[in-house]
Amino acid sequence: MTRRPGIAEPVVDDSRRRALTAAERERYARNILVPEVGTAGQERIRAARVLVVGAGGLGSPVALYLAAAGVGTLGLVDPDVVEVSNLQRQVLHTTDAAGSPKTDSARVALAALNPDVEVVAVPERVTEANAPEVLAGWDVVVDATDSFPTRYLLGDTTARLGVPLVHGAVLRTHGQVGVFDAGRGPCYRCLRPVPPPPGSVPSGAEAGVLGVLPGVIGSMQAAEVLKLVVGGARPLIGRLLVLDAWGARVDEVRVARHPGCPVCGPCVTPRREG
Ligand SMILES: [Zn+2]
Repeated sequence: MTRRPGIAEPVVDDSRRRALTAAERERYARNILVPEVGTAGQERIRAARVLVVGAGGLGSPVALYLAAAGVGTLGLVDPDVVEVSNLQRQVLHTTDAAGSPKTDSARVALAALNPDVEVVAVPERVTEANAPEVLAGWDVVVDATDSFPTRYLLGDTTARLGVPLVHGAVLRTHGQVGVFDAGRGPCYRCLRPVPPPPGSVPSGAEAGVLGVLPGVIGSMQAAEVLKLVVGGARPLIGRLLVLDAWGARVDEVRVARHPGCPVCGPCVTPRREG
């Protein structure tokens, strides 16, 4: 692929592609018909390894659409169990699953949707200690969490590993989505160098979330993942889309690489795992 400004090359190496079976060509026919995807793009989707951190409001549409699209290996990280108050937005889970680990509930739902997808469940919290191990070896990591400490941990660790991070966040009637890829643009810490003081930004549990909003933002995150995997698209690298659902407005915020960034600045060389 020749280099064009803003057009990203696929994150999946073509040596990992294999020919689609007849059953796969039938299942993914509508993807393959899209000229930007085609057979080569679908083969990359089948070869892709995508880790979704958070199997809640954002993680639900991300995981469902990526499984439906035929992502070969889908990792899901979440330490929590399904609660009835989750079901207003977390469409991966059902009423019957209340009380079950979210990773178990998700595995059942994703297997029913597409049994060809290998689901790797990690029923743990991402911590400073396990982040390098949990986040390594994936083509793309999706931030579908709702806590600032985890968000910074994902941002810093993926930047150091050279793995692109598809970020999403929702609160009340607003949401945002962006891609942080330290190899090709800013990292999350370039956007916000330090976390907000604890308690200064309310969580969804404290302030509420309009149930459909993570569906919109999570679906956009799934689209960004597929764009990174297939290649040839303009991902949201260096751009943050901010959605005001109540006012039906979308704004684009430019995010520049911060020269003094402690994670991706000039003193630090990001590396991409092979
Ligand atoms: Zn940075």
